Amino acid sequence: MYKIGILFENREFEHDVYELIKAFYPEAEIHTLYEDDEAEYDLRFRVERENDNYIIKYERAENLPNQETEKKGAITAEVITDETTGENAECGIKDAHALRKENKDSIKYALYQLLVKLTGKTLPWGNLTGIRPAKLAMGMIESGMKNTEVAQEMREKYLVSPQKTALAITIANREREILKDIDYENGYSLYIGIPFCPSICLYCSFSSYPLKVWEKRTDEYVEALCKEVRETALMMKGKKLDTIYIGGGTPTTLLPHQIRKLLNTVGETFGFEGLAEFTVEAGRPDSITREKLEAIREYPVTRISVNPQTMNQETLEIIGRKHTVDQTKEAFHLARELGFDNINMDLIVGLPGEDIYMVERTLEQVRELAPDSITVHSLAVKRAARLNIFKEKYQEMSFENNQEIMDLTMKTAYEMGMGPYYLYRQKNMKGNFENVGYAKVDKAGIYNILIMEEKQPIIALGAGGSSKLVFDHGKRIERVENVKDVSNYISRIDEMIERKRKAIAIWL
Ligand code: SF4
Repeated sequence: MYKIGILFENREFEHDVYELIKAFYPEAEIHTLYEDDEAEYDLRFRVERENDNYIIKYERAENLPNQETEKKGAITAEVITDETTGENAECGIKDAHALRKENKDSIKYALYQLLVKLTGKTLPWGNLTGIRPAKLAMGMIESGMKNTEVAQEMREKYLVSPQKTALAITIANREREILKDIDYENGYSLYIGIPFCPSICLYCSFSSYPLKVWEKRTDEYVEALCKEVRETALMMKGKKLDTIYIGGGTPTTLLPHQIRKLLNTVGETFGFEGLAEFTVEAGRPDSITREKLEAIREYPVTRISVNPQTMNQETLEIIGRKHTVDQTKEAFHLARELGFDNINMDLIVGLPGEDIYMVERTLEQVRELAPDSITVHSLAVKRAARLNIFKEKYQEMSFENNQEIMDLTMKTAYEMGMGPYYLYRQKNMKGNFENVGYAKVDKAGIYNILIMEEKQPIIALGAGGSSKLVFDHGKRIERVENVKDVSNYISRIDEMIERKRKAIAIWL
């Protein structure tokens, strides 16, 4: 593993510089420094600002591959000012936000070229390190640019590959089409989290706890949650609720009477009229029963998820999902039998030990089930995940993800009559790819698009819920967090409600 040091004399774009270097050296141990140190690094960067330029210098050790590059070097990026862009005092100072973005683009463009030279590789998403590339394309289309102009900008300014450029533009256009009849900027969505799962998956970094440990307190949890539902509905009175998403965790870890109690409370307080979508992410097949699905069917739920992640039994065991492939199939058939006509299935590629043939096997079995949408995730191992914590135990295992696998998932989705409709990236994704949602016509998950576009508030209830309040058409986002710990959530529910009340009052 390489050791990289980044010395920041200018910290203006510290996060962006770090993320781009990390994307090129995903396995490296990266140290951010604010003072020179004596430590030995395989590669050392120094980020400075000198008058009208940002300067990034590097020095590499002998052991770094791509030895044909110089041992030392530097790149410069121009500092963009109001004068450089032609803005002047008469017209008003250029929007500080826009100016910052131009400077960020300038430094990332130069740094990307340097990293390509140092590593000999390129990245599918070019110098974009953010998690919402389709939002970038959407913004350009909304500003009046034609698709061809957006493509040119993504290729030339952000150095995105032709394939990913096409994907981002296709998705941005489909999102626009799906959202065109929803006055979403004046509405909001509701997220309700159920933080329990039958077992904890190896790669999980969500706020989720084993059901076994909390089984005796789920009634208390639902009680606290219903209180938060009632109080929040009063705060949001008069505002238009567009979508509801019940996720987690695994919502179907709740018992049928708890599901009814929660959904009744939501119906009586927020109401279900005029919803564009109502999703319950059933999720783990080992939590789904006929009684629970029947309870959900009593409410106007429009979309559910039954998530296999993989259809390879040996992988399910490795990743700690204590259910079988057959359970996934049974849960899916049961949902169809009960009349659910919009079922999503989540898949993960890049799982430990899985090669393209195993992914193909999963896709074939999913194709036979014929869901209405699939979401293909590229494995991302976050710091909190057990997979990272027990790294050594799994280091012998291959984690394979490549463009061929991504292409196969896309090809299969198209063959199943689905097209891509939403996209996001996460940090630490295997191969630096993306998560893509594919759906048949009229079966796309609207909430998924809204959360990516960040144009409407998402009010999140439950332990670990993170509400996003949107100001100034998405230019500023304020978060209000609920505590993650279930016990704390229950005992401090009044405090959670007050936090929300204060933040929502400012937003209103
Ligand atoms: S089902 Fe999802 S939320 Fe639950 S443990 Fe697995 S990854 Fe985490």
